[in-house]
Amino acid sequence: MIKDFEYFSPQKLDKALALLDKYEDSKVICGGQSLLILMKQGLVAPQYVIDIKGLSELDYIKKERNGTVKIGALTTHRTIENASQFKGALGVLAEMEKRLASPQTRNWGTIGGNVAHGDPAGDPAPVFMAVNASVKLASAAGERTVPMAEFYVDYFESVMQHNELITEIEIPPIADHTGVAYAKFNIIDSDMATVSAAVSITLSANGGTCQDVRIALGAAAPTPLRAKQAEAVLRGKKPTDALFKEAGEVAAGESNPVADINASAEFRRELVKAMVKRVGMEAYARAKEA
Ligand SMILES: Cc1cc2nc3c(=O)[nH]c(=O)nc-3n(C[C@H](O)[C@H](O)[C@H](O)COP(=O)(O)OP(=O)(O)OC[C@H]3O[C@@H](n4cnc5c(N)ncnc54)[C@H](O)[C@@H]3O)c2cc1C
Repeated sequence: MIKDFEYFSPQKLDKALALLDKYEDSKVICGGQSLLILMKQGLVAPQYVIDIKGLSELDYIKKERNGTVKIGALTTHRTIENASQFKGALGVLAEMEKRLASPQTRNWGTIGGNVAHGDPAGDPAPVFMAVNASVKLASAAGERTVPMAEFYVDYFESVMQHNELITEIEIPPIADHTGVAYAKFNIIDSDMATVSAAVSITLSANGGTCQDVRIALGAAAPTPLRAKQAEAVLRGKKPTDALFKEAGEVAAGESNPVADINASAEFRRELVKAMVKRVGMEAYARAKEA
């Protein structure tokens, strides 16, 4: 049973930020796909609910001339899935969205809500880490930008303060010869990941060595995780199946999985090994074609 609350529906960002500043016991709602579940379970019972679904100024996807992509926080999963801007290496975003929940949830759920919710099994965060994205936050006091890889601090916890809103996700230009891949393992299609992995590989101009690499994991720790030691296995080397296997093993050692009803920590570590290898090889194949 949801407890009574006072409801606000600001239509402008500054109004929403002023309300957030004024009411400490408030909660922002957007698509409601995660928050309503928590409210129905009585786990969250705010006195004030600030519905930001009317902030149409935050509903956009922009691609700048230099290749930077900006996704407004109110953009739905479904819009990202179908967006024409996500081609080449960024086609991974649409692939990721196709595996996220059902069309119904994708039609309502927003990218800002997903990132803010902070579920370590969420699909977008590892992909955003792999493409080196940042989160733009706004409050009545101003704006700040936080790299996605530094955004999460603990289980469902981020650096975002109560009076801040996510306004945008920014993806810097993708270098030439870059391939990005993502996969998630789950038992029921459209369910949350048991473990997921996203890998971005940039090859040197002659296509020989791995110039840059980012490996990010979902549901492999209390937060989405950048597997930096595993990245070091590949950086500067010509990738081989054996190196991808080693990177998977190192990533499993870096992971710190939580055991729950879906999987034990040991099973998740085994999944990390297999998925980093498989997704890494796919990213490499894509980089060679890019
Ligand atoms: C049946 C089902 C299946 C799902 N499967 C998946 C899945 O496979 N993969 C996956 O990743 N997710 C999955 N989800 C979760 C869901 O996709 C996301 O959590 C959803 O996109 C959240 O967006 P929302 O707009 O609905 O957020 P809301 O539910 O409205 O809000 C979620 C949280 O974010 C905060 N918030 C919302 N917007 C902002 C903002 N702009 N700035 C700051 N804080 C904000 C709210 O206060 C709240 O704490 C599933 C959900 C359901 C119901």
